Amino acid sequence: MAFEGLSERLQKTFAKLRGKGKITENDVKEMMREVRLALLEADVNFDVTKTFIKTVRQRAIGSEVLDSLTPAQQIVKIVNEELTKIMGTSAVGLNKSPKIPTIIMMVGLQGAGKTTSAGKLVKYLQEKDKARPLLIAADVYRPAAIEQLKTIGQQLNVPVYDEGIDHDPVAIVQHGLKQAQENKNDYVLIDTAGRLEIDDQLMDELAKIKEIAEPDEILLVVDSMTGQAATHVAEGFNDQLDITGVILTKLDGDTRGGAALSIRSVTGKPIKFVGSGEKLDALEVFHPERMADRILG
Ligand code: GDP
Repeated sequence: MAFEGLSERLQKTFAKLRGKGKITENDVKEMMREVRLALLEADVNFDVTKTFIKTVRQRAIGSEVLDSLTPAQQIVKIVNEELTKIMGTSAVGLNKSPKIPTIIMMVGLQGAGKTTSAGKLVKYLQEKDKARPLLIAADVYRPAAIEQLKTIGQQLNVPVYDEGIDHDPVAIVQHGLKQAQENKNDYVLIDTAGRLEIDDQLMDELAKIKEIAEPDEILLVVDSMTGQAATHVAEGFNDQLDITGVILTKLDGDTRGGAALSIRSVTGKPIKFVGSGEKLDALEVFHPERMADRILG
């Protein structure tokens, strides 16, 4: 489960305070040192950690805590509120176009879980919105990716538009969108190509697709298990494409949680969903406040 390490360390730190009737500024200082280490060990971005610690410290040495009869509880409350804040305060839903179709472009590095997340999102929209989506297979560099998307389409009973691997992805998207218009699909999800790392050619292609598709959402899919690297990837994609949100995958295997805690603050873009397994129903709306509760146990 996510955040095991961080959870345990924070809980231990706060447990030390519980025995004390009153706490001093020095206690706060010591505690914040431990919280800082716990966050860095969880692979939270350095600047995010620094700002977080500063804010919590300022609030914690205020009279509301030091004069309180339950200072440990007050501090946990402050940490909870600030953790929630760095993750974006409240859940952010999907953008929806006033006229159909709503176009969602999925981007991300290879292996992040882009194709799987496209399938999960289709299932989510089918259940929530009775959606009739079309999937477009625009990852022409990996034949396996197209096959994978087709399999997902079959599983969910959703059409997949593809032209194999011999065509220009920009043209494929154009043709796919035309088909969606004709078939009156209410959502279109475009599965784009990924690479092992961000490169100019990939970004150029994605920028072209963005230009012609005018998506309502550009969702970046990142692997939470890569920690700070995921945060860097998010920064890179956001600089180039001005993404609208993030799907953070593989939270089920991420024991640290640094990406979940950093991405919003670093990019300014919300984490909209988290992936918590390989199955198509393993997608959850990201709720910062619930995540903070989970971290603090
Ligand atoms: P893509 O290259 O970005 O399209 O990545 P895929 O969708 O093919 O996913 C790569 C691998 O990650 C596959 O084995 C997926 O089953 C797995 N995967 C995707 N999302 C999750 C998740 O949330 N949790 C787990 N445990 N595995 C996932």
